[in-house]
Amino acid sequence: MGSNAGSVPFYLKTNRSFSAIRRYAWIFTVLIGLGGQFVPALGLLVPLIMIALVGMSLFKGKYWCGNFCPHGSFFDNLLQPISRHVKIPQFLRSRLLVAAVLLFFIYNMTNRFVRVYGLLGTDSFYERLGFIFANTYLMVLLVGGLLAVVINPRTWCHFCPMGTMQTIFYKLGKALGLTKKTDQKVTIKHPELCHSCGKCARVCPMQLTPYLEFSANHQLGNESCIRCYTCVYNCPAGILQMANKQKLMKEKAVFAENIFYEDFDVQGK
Ligand code: SF4
Ligand code: SF4
Repeated sequence: MGSNAGSVPFYLKTNRSFSAIRRYAWIFTVLIGLGGQFVPALGLLVPLIMIALVGMSLFKGKYWCGNFCPHGSFFDNLLQPISRHVKIPQFLRSRLLVAAVLLFFIYNMTNRFVRVYGLLGTDSFYERLGFIFANTYLMVLLVGGLLAVVINPRTWCHFCPMGTMQTIFYKLGKALGLTKKTDQKVTIKHPELCHSCGKCARVCPMQLTPYLEFSANHQLGNESCIRCYTCVYNCPAGILQMANKQKLMKEKAVFAENIFYEDFDVQGK
């Protein structure tokens, strides 16, 4: 598929909040990140979020990032309007940075947990534990927020430790065959109708290029895709959808059947 997208502006600001959760989940981020500084127990909700996102990634890749993440909602809803919305530098998308941030996160959290562990059994144990998570949430709010304004709303998402953990568990889910029925990927229904306009790439929060990356089975295999539907809703040809392998096979079978009958009708005339 060639590209006709070179002469038009890239990185368009578009609506990405297609559900109430995506529109309002940012409240949760502010509540824990800022509220947790005064009521540290709020931070104890974070481990539940971590369990949910890791569990979901085993079956659906980075679906959480595009559809439930409170920070993602904060970046997309509150900060996108004031973001410079420019290209995310390659360095911030590099494997080196992704690995370094994950290792630092693990090291830092382990250190803090070890210190708090000494308080186990005392009244302040849970308060200090909650404070660790609330502080981490606040740090993402500030650093991710700054990057969102100066560069692009989803800049943080390229090296977020939670996103990296999802990618790792997604690979595990694929290896164990857990994703077969549940993993919905961006799918191009009719590649022959693609204008190569690049709109799917220009609206993608993760700055991926779906129209240049579809595999032979018409699906986007890029593990950085957060399944946010933004490309699906914005494709002017209406040829993108989210589909798992089963749906894809079913549609292919129906399509082949229709072609067969069309040929049959033509030849029968
Ligand atoms: S937005 Fe649709 S028509 Fe345009 S390049 Fe992407 S898939 Fe093709
Ligand atoms: S490719 Fe589509 S679904 Fe995936 S992150 Fe980009 S816009 Fe969202």
